Amino acid sequence: MREALLTAEEITKIYPGAQEPVLNQISVRICQGDFTIIMGPSGAGKSTLLYALSGMDALSSGKVLYMEQELGTLSEKKMAALRAKEFGFVFQQPHLVSNLTLFENVAIAGYLEKGKSEKTVKKRAKSLLAQMHAEKAGDRLPSQASGGEAQRAAIARAMINQPGLLFADEPTGALNRKNSEEVMDLLTSLNQKGQSIFMVTHDVKAAIRGNRILYLEDGKILDEMPLPPFDMNMQKEREEKVSAWLTSLSW
Ligand code: ADP
Repeated sequence: MREALLTAEEITKIYPGAQEPVLNQISVRICQGDFTIIMGPSGAGKSTLLYALSGMDALSSGKVLYMEQELGTLSEKKMAALRAKEFGFVFQQPHLVSNLTLFENVAIAGYLEKGKSEKTVKKRAKSLLAQMHAEKAGDRLPSQASGGEAQRAAIARAMINQPGLLFADEPTGALNRKNSEEVMDLLTSLNQKGQSIFMVTHDVKAAIRGNRILYLEDGKILDEMPLPPFDMNMQKEREEKVSAWLTSLSW
């Protein structure tokens, strides 16, 4: 069996004042190199699960272990250091700092991890922007960049500290089809180079990039679909397979 990178053991999340748990004793195992996708109806708790696994939100019960460290037992300082070093985040909106250029937005995140020289950070920021096909937009402010460029810079920012696990919450949700495809090509390419990714999406075209899709509903993971390695030439077949599976789950 492959080694676990992150393990959730019977995690439950009940928001204050709510009657029902959003997450009800969920157990998940994420291995190194996995591209795990979470799907499910709106309001099912997909984002809540992402926040719970990344230690951004406290659990009501259960535990999350990242490389055998239990997140809930770490001090705030240690948790912040682990998050800065080990986790990258991409959201639906790029959330870039408006008065910094795209390059500066990427580089500044590099200083969150202590002990890196300016030269190292700048070199990596430049190379990541190039990898994300956003090099030319590096000198622009977010307001001068296209939505696709801004989101590609947000991925570069998430990758600056070489995270062990990249969390993405609807990363294509605000993009048109062309930009979505570009962002998914980049995430696919990162995963093919070994990057572990955990992604929430409602978009079948984005979901087929994963190697497993978990379906969340009523506080539980109802089903899981494993997928073979992604192949550009087999997208249609893969989409049909995933769509049929989702239909069988009354999605
Ligand atoms: P999804 O990502 O699947 O659309 P969410 O995780 O965003 O679902 O939300 C799941 C449920 O939890 C929803 O009913 C939502 O209203 C509720 N919820 C989310 N965040 C909070 C919060 N901070 N406080 C109270 N309820 C919340």
